[in-house]
Amino acid sequence: MQEMNDNRALLEGVLEELGLEAGAREKGQLLQFAGLLLEGLKKQRLVGEKTAAEIIGKHFYDSLVPASFSLLHSGAVLDLGTGAGFPGLPLKIISPGTPFFLLEANGRKINFLKNVVAELGLAEVFLLHGRAEKIGQQEEYRERFGTVLSRAVAHTSVLLELSLPLAALGGRLVFFKGPRAYEELERSRRALELCGGRFKESREYCLPSGEKRVLLIFEKVASTPPQYPRRDGVPLKRPLDRLE
Ligand code: SAH
Repeated sequence: MQEMNDNRALLEGVLEELGLEAGAREKGQLLQFAGLLLEGLKKQRLVGEKTAAEIIGKHFYDSLVPASFSLLHSGAVLDLGTGAGFPGLPLKIISPGTPFFLLEANGRKINFLKNVVAELGLAEVFLLHGRAEKIGQQEEYRERFGTVLSRAVAHTSVLLELSLPLAALGGRLVFFKGPRAYEELERSRRALELCGGRFKESREYCLPSGEKRVLLIFEKVASTPPQYPRRDGVPLKRPLDRLE
């Protein structure tokens, strides 16, 4: 019981620090998600961290930063390579009116997320099991999303090839990066040009642990040619920054 109260206080601190409002239902869902992550962790090692405090104070905090900067564009949101649900699920919980699509190649993680969505009673969360290379070539999803988010999945040039085909014209990409963000940005010019993107801005922040983080934000300014994304695994093996 004490632990539950501690987690609630920690969560309220995180929300306050980020300047975010959340109702009782949303706070309850975030705490329930933390509980399911901990349970899932024991069984399947879904995230590296081991305490509810780390899940709330690090992963939830990080995931919610785009909301605190009001970075979600209008329309549906896609989280590319969501893993155990980061950053997509915490953002979905505090943005209940926005449809969220969580894309993940690993079936074990998709099964975990299915259970989370059912337990929390979340509406308008769509789980996409597959690789971004395939989903990005499907008419149903191509150029469909107002915002594409991605955290800890790949280098920026690789992510651009995977996510620009999925973003709607005028839509936005938000990539979660560490201190190497600007080096990666330097090497992403060619991918931007080839896939129809433009760098918009970066946002810097610190996690409560003091760790420095950077959000790289891009806009989709031109339609992506049909050859992108290339076949499974090719964007990673031969990133567009090295083709010249
Ligand atoms: N975003 C989560 C998970 C990061 S781990 C977090 O921040 O905690 C990277 C995840 O991306 C893995 O679960 C992996 O299966 C998934 N992934 C990597 N490449 C992918 C691709 N091309 N298509 C779909 N999922 C992919």
